[in-house]
Parts: sequence; C-alpha cells; structure tokens
Amino acid sequence: MYEPVFPPKTKAVAEIGIIGGSGLYDPGLFESAKEVKVYTPYGEPSDSIIVGVVKGRKVAFLPRHGRGHRIPPHRVNYRANIWALKSLGVKWVISVSAVGSLQEHIKPGDLVVPDQFIDMTKRREYSFFEGSVVAHVSMAEPFCEQLRKLLIDTAKQLGYTVHERGTYICIEGPRFSTKAESRIWREVFKADIIGMTLVPEVNLACEAQLCYATLALVTDYDVWAERPVTAEEVMRVMKENTEKAKRILYEVIPRIPEQPDPNQCSCCRALETALL
Ligand SMILES: [Zn+2]
Repeated sequence: MYEPVFPPKTKAVAEIGIIGGSGLYDPGLFESAKEVKVYTPYGEPSDSIIVGVVKGRKVAFLPRHGRGHRIPPHRVNYRANIWALKSLGVKWVISVSAVGSLQEHIKPGDLVVPDQFIDMTKRREYSFFEGSVVAHVSMAEPFCEQLRKLLIDTAKQLGYTVHERGTYICIEGPRFSTKAESRIWREVFKADIIGMTLVPEVNLACEAQLCYATLALVTDYDVWAERPVTAEEVMRVMKENTEKAKRILYEVIPRIPEQPDPNQCSCCRALETALL
C-alpha cells in the first residue's frame, strides 16, 4: 500500500525543468551551474541534475538517457525523473525529443509541438499512485496550452518550420516499427510523429501537476516512406535540430511566466477531480 506524497513546497531550487538529450546542455548558457544528485522513492533519476540560471531564471536540466546515452527509452526511470524535478520546485517542464515523421508534409528538420498522443508502450510504470488511492487524471488535453503556445511563438519568431498541432505515437522500442506497423500508425491511427520517450513522462508530469509540453525534432521519415537514409544524414539533421532546440530554449525561458495562469491551463490542478 503506497500513496505518493508529493514533495513539500520548499524554496524552489529551480522553476523550469528541461528533459532532453545530453547534447542539449550548453554550459555556456547556464550561469552558476551546479550538479544536484536527487534521491526519490522510485530510485535514481537518469543522471544528476544540472541546476543553474538562464537569463535570470532558475533552470534544471536532466539528460533523459543519462550522460553518454546509457539508458535506452524503455529503461528510463520516468517516475524518478519527474519526481526529482518536482522536488526541486519545478513548475514547468519542457521535454525535447527526436521523432520520426509519419506524414509527408512533416519533413526532416521540422519542429512539432504535439497536442495529442497515442500510447502503444507495453510495460512501463505509468503512475505514482499504487495504493488504495487511485488517480484517474484527465488526458483529454495532455499538454500545457500555455507552454505549447510559448514554444510555437518562439520557434516561429526564430524562423523555424514548426507544426502547431500533431499526434505523437509512442512505441515501446527499442526496436523500430515494421512497415506494416508504420502504415497503421499513419493511415489508420492518423498519427503524425513517432517516438519512444513521451509516455509515461507526460502522464506522470500530469499527476505531479506540472505544466508540461514537448518540443519534437523530426530527424527522418519513419519506415513507411521507404526512403532509406544514411546514418550520416540522420546525424547531420539531429545536430542541426539540437542547435534549433537550444536557441528556442534560450529565447523561451525568459518568457515563461513565474506562475501558470489558471485561465490558460489546468495542469497545476490536475488532481483536483482525479482522486478516488
Ligand atoms: Zn499548464
């Protein structure tokens, strides 16, 4: 029998959390950066968290797969990651991830700020609530509208091609889809992009009442397109995308409000009507 007691509201070490590839961390952008090791009831997060100041805002950076990409998508301790950020006082989480495109018009190098997801993962830890209290959080609108809008506006101002809506299908991995699967995701499910890390990060962020949005970076077309690409091409696009993501983060961070506006999203009240 276990009920989560979310960390008490102490003085925030960080207010904005960023989860992404370790290549996203740019020591040049973080002032007075220090590494914080966080222990959680769910075990260790993917790595120690780098806490510092970016344009006057306290930011926590967590490499989702650990430094050196040690942890594959299906082995990431998503509960520890979200718990750790929450325990530092984080209210906003920007999740950055590489995805494949399932639609012709979403091209490698484009950015997508998804507004929906489909969960095809199979064996992950999906909830903080494991005891007699059950949380049925609403996932009708799974992403924070306030944070989504800020990401979209910033990407546009920087002149990047950004898709303002999109359905992210999350597969278990670590293998890629078969052609038959890829065609189902695209033609039957009408999903737009595919990746392996969104779920259960997004559900857990909701249970922790965090404002959460994803910046998805398109690296290539998924296998349906039958357009073989070389590892070199993918590496080149990924490198360019990482630079784009860094610029967006650097510009968007100072624009994020100190407190979520309850009229624009209900992320921070997600548990109000969810507990049984
Ligand atoms: Zn929100």
